[in-house]
Amino acid sequence: MNLYDPHRPRVLVMSPTTSVRRAFQARVQAAGYDVWSGPAGRACDVEAVICHLPGSGLGALALLQDLRDAHSDACLIVAGRDHGAERTAALLRAGAFDYLATPVPEGRLEEALRQGLTVRRSFLRVRELSDKLQTANEELARERDGLRHWNQNLVLVNDLSQSFAGTLDAAEIVQMVGQRLTRMLNLDLLGVGWYAPPRVWVHTDPAIDAAIAQQAQAALLAGGSGSAGRVPEGPAAAEPSVGGAVLEVPLRVAQEPVGILRLQRGSGEPFEPYQVELVKAVTTPLALALRNAEAHQLVQSQALTDGLTNLLNRRAFSNILAREFREAERYHTPLCLIMMDVDHFKSVNDRFGHPVGDRLLREVAGLIGQAIRTVDIATRYGGEEFAIILPRTDAAQAQVLANRIRELLAQQVFLVEGAHLSLTVSMGIAQTPDPQIAAVDDLVAVADDALYRAKTYGRNRVEMNQSVRERAAKTREEPVYQREKAGVGNAGIRC
Ligand code: GH3
Ligand code: MG
Ligand code: MG
Repeated sequence: MNLYDPHRPRVLVMSPTTSVRRAFQARVQAAGYDVWSGPAGRACDVEAVICHLPGSGLGALALLQDLRDAHSDACLIVAGRDHGAERTAALLRAGAFDYLATPVPEGRLEEALRQGLTVRRSFLRVRELSDKLQTANEELARERDGLRHWNQNLVLVNDLSQSFAGTLDAAEIVQMVGQRLTRMLNLDLLGVGWYAPPRVWVHTDPAIDAAIAQQAQAALLAGGSGSAGRVPEGPAAAEPSVGGAVLEVPLRVAQEPVGILRLQRGSGEPFEPYQVELVKAVTTPLALALRNAEAHQLVQSQALTDGLTNLLNRRAFSNILAREFREAERYHTPLCLIMMDVDHFKSVNDRFGHPVGDRLLREVAGLIGQAIRTVDIATRYGGEEFAIILPRTDAAQAQVLANRIRELLAQQVFLVEGAHLSLTVSMGIAQTPDPQIAAVDDLVAVADDALYRAKTYGRNRVEMNQSVRERAAKTREEPVYQREKAGVGNAGIRC
């Protein structure tokens, strides 16, 4: 049970002389304070300490140090012999509240105690206010940081949104985000995995290990480091497999997950909550910009694709041929064009109907696609005519390819209403550079001309531009056109 009134200040009286201690205790008590003589008489449990030091008075300095060490805020009043103003001043400077020369006159001890406790109360109040002020300052600093980050996010989102408006190229969009965030967040890698159609774009620091970029790419293709479609919301744990901290944030359009944004730090430094917020702020404009770019890409490719055969259409043909023609001129490389026409195709339609004709055209397109190299560009020029653009290819190489396609088609057996049907094609090749060819239209006209000759000479054959043929004849090389095989030339359709 506490014998002391909690509202009354407690005063510890210390003296090596019992009579003095008792006398002081009696005076303290008479003045209305509790005399503290707790178990060990500890200074930290009291509001004031009266310390009687009959010797040199130097022990008071050690006592003050003890009080400080014990984090006590008790007010210390020292009583002892009068050692002069200098020593008294030293004690007061060291933190004692008052020095009372013994014998202490009536009322002097009581007054010193009253004043000391009043000063102590004021001091505690100031300290409390100062603590509150410090807490408020810290709170303000946090608010200020929060606002600064918020502002930073807004500026970033605004800047990026404006940059996105300037392009419809998905890779360029990812580069824009990559460049900004890599700098701001000290990243090694920023990647985007897109779900439909599945695609991955990766922006890396040039110094990054290629193996790390590949691992990130693989993770993105798998739909993030978790299972496909998993959408982690917070900072992800460091992934030892890629040797750094990884953050993955879902990309959504109208709540629908469309992809995943992956950030990676080789340093292993985890992502701070405000950095996660910044990344999240970027994901909405990024997802929208990428969706727009993809939609644009789709429309573009649809506008350039032939609906029946899925090959590039006439428009794409014109664009690509013009581009390749310019490149060939600029870099002095050969360019070939093969014009191809299915022989006697009208009779297929007449005999089996248009839908069967369509199906066969699709199959022919598929075979052409299989026969060419990846660098070659097969297009449907119109009707039952196809055009193949062969960049950095000379006439001799083009002829080999044309004959491969021709033979492949001639050998192919098409099954139509239980009957076996064969188709042949005629082809004309034009090559640039050539004195006859000054513009891209000349290239088409010359190839067309060669195709016409192939038809005239009996079909199922390949013809070249005139000047290439002439050059070949002059150098006594083998004629570069394929001689028609006996008995096959006239058979456009063989049933
Ligand atoms: P050749 O070229 O050997 O001189 O004879 P051809 O019978 O192929 O030539 P022609 O120019 O007389 O006929 C081309 C035919 O191709 C006519 C047309 O019915 C057919 N054709 C063109 N486009 C399509 C198509 O998209 N689908 C179908 N089914 N037939 C088509
Ligand atoms: Mg034809
Ligand atoms: Mg035709």
